[in-house]
Amino acid sequence: MTGPRLVQAVLLSAAVLRARAGGKRLLRRLRLRGAVRSRGSCPLCEREVEFAATGAGERESPVCLRCGSVPRQRALVAALPLLAPPLDGVRLHESSPSPCTFFHFGRRCRGFTASCHLPGLAPGTRVGAFVAADLERQPFPGGSFDVVVTLDVLEHVPRPLPALAEVARTLTPAGVHVFTAPRAASRTTGARVRFVGGQPEPVAAPEYHRDPFSRAGALVVTDFGCDFEALVARELGLVCTAAVVVAPELGVPSPVEVFAVRRA
Ligand SMILES: [Zn+2]
Repeated sequence: MTGPRLVQAVLLSAAVLRARAGGKRLLRRLRLRGAVRSRGSCPLCEREVEFAATGAGERESPVCLRCGSVPRQRALVAALPLLAPPLDGVRLHESSPSPCTFFHFGRRCRGFTASCHLPGLAPGTRVGAFVAADLERQPFPGGSFDVVVTLDVLEHVPRPLPALAEVARTLTPAGVHVFTAPRAASRTTGARVRFVGGQPEPVAAPEYHRDPFSRAGALVVTDFGCDFEALVARELGLVCTAAVVVAPELGVPSPVEVFAVRRA
């Protein structure tokens, strides 16, 4: 393994991620000392915790002071028992996990695969605890996973519908792709960015979301709207459903949509 790749592998190893998560826990406690707090049960920590408001919006605040999870992550993990088989027996793939979901699924699933988009690396290369994989062209054989999870990833991929089709290819016939993505019921699905020769060109004001692995943040490519489920059915022949999760006791005080896509 060459120098930069070795550094990348070390940075993405479970031990370094664990150390970084521990450091961030301490920083969160210091930074959020004066923040409004509430007690509840975190579905990722699977225990009583304190949540602290950060003012970062309904999907991102409050944060769990223990694992750092935010409402959209807790909503998805809380909804999983209703949408997927028990996790201990499944092969689960999460694309671009945050440290909190990485450790939660790593602990709960016997067969857990974490992948990361690592441009410049051959697809399927193992880098630390991750497999290099582009969601649109994955290195995994068909039928590899019972459950695939993506948390606020789909709005950042260049072509979300082909990415959904590619995820479906990697699922077993009864498998399910469970994901979150922000959507506005008042609009229809549309692109914020188009790609010319592989380079992004904005067609709307650039918008970025927080990215645990990038300071610049992740560019939003697609705005999802009220037609999303119909679009998935029409273009891909897949069944897409949306469940609304609101559970203040789990640190999800405002409604968060959790989508599930399966074969028809
Ligand atoms: Zn937690």
